[in-house]
Amino acid sequence: MSQPLPKLVHTIAELRAAVAAARTAGKTIGFVPTMGALHEGHLSLVRAAKDECGFVVVSIYVNPSQFGPKEDFSKYPRTLDADMALLAGHADLVFAPSNEEVYPPNHATWVTVGSVAEPLEGACRPDHFRGVATIVLKLFGMVQPDFAYFGQKDYQQALVIERMTADLNVQTMIRVCPIVREPDGLAMSSRNRYLSSSDRKPALVLSQSLALAEILVKRGERNAAKLAARMREVIGTASNARIDYIAIVDPQTLQPMEVLSGDVLVALAVKISNTRLIDNRVLHVSDSRTHTV
Ligand code: AMP
Repeated sequence: MSQPLPKLVHTIAELRAAVAAARTAGKTIGFVPTMGALHEGHLSLVRAAKDECGFVVVSIYVNPSQFGPKEDFSKYPRTLDADMALLAGHADLVFAPSNEEVYPPNHATWVTVGSVAEPLEGACRPDHFRGVATIVLKLFGMVQPDFAYFGQKDYQQALVIERMTADLNVQTMIRVCPIVREPDGLAMSSRNRYLSSSDRKPALVLSQSLALAEILVKRGERNAAKLAARMREVIGTASNARIDYIAIVDPQTLQPMEVLSGDVLVALAVKISNTRLIDNRVLHVSDSRTHTV
């Protein structure tokens, strides 16, 4: 038997009415913000929301303000019908607003998060996190969720949202869920659709270099520069790969670590031909052993 499609709304007024009805019925509101082109990674967040909340809202909105002028906003995949089908039986409500609904002409407020938004993605994509923080806070204002779910795939994004909600006293609880990968290790991403068949295998250098980092740390490597050099070698095996950054940093502050100890975030951004991919892994470095989360 086919599962029921979620209700689809396009305006803030319809969204608020549906959420208010769920609240009146005593339900907890879970929220998963997305840009659509949904895959199992998104679905894992929706499942986590459903496990914890009585009513699950998914937003599908390709937010123009988080794309740079030379980035892929206009070609970003928009697949609402397929997204609705994937969410059948999982989400209760889908909110897919227009740009006019989200950013009316007099919109003039932007949210800027400090230090955790500055390195890594923030350095490569100026204004990206200003766009992300603004849209997430706006969506939180529209949905007013009890819980909101983000993926560790976008590690820094989750950290920026956690910082923002703490600093601005937003009551929504933030949950961060593990990275969902293809069987061969490639982190699922809407942008994987851009990979040509000849790019698909080279794209594995991201997860392979992270796996190597973990092995080397397990074997006792504690020097971040040496680790990064070995990762660079792996990525260099793909002739069409170009590294934006390899970061070996403190997972809370995103400040570089030279000597590894405690928890370490290894994060990277690599362009495979024209497709920019990101991936990361948190390593737990102890004197005797290392394991990942
Ligand atoms: P996006 O549609 O790319 O804006 O992503 C929406 C949410 O899904 C973000 O919180 C992402 O971190 C999360 N997400 C995307 N890909 C994955 C993945 N492979 N595993 C887990 N979460 C993911």
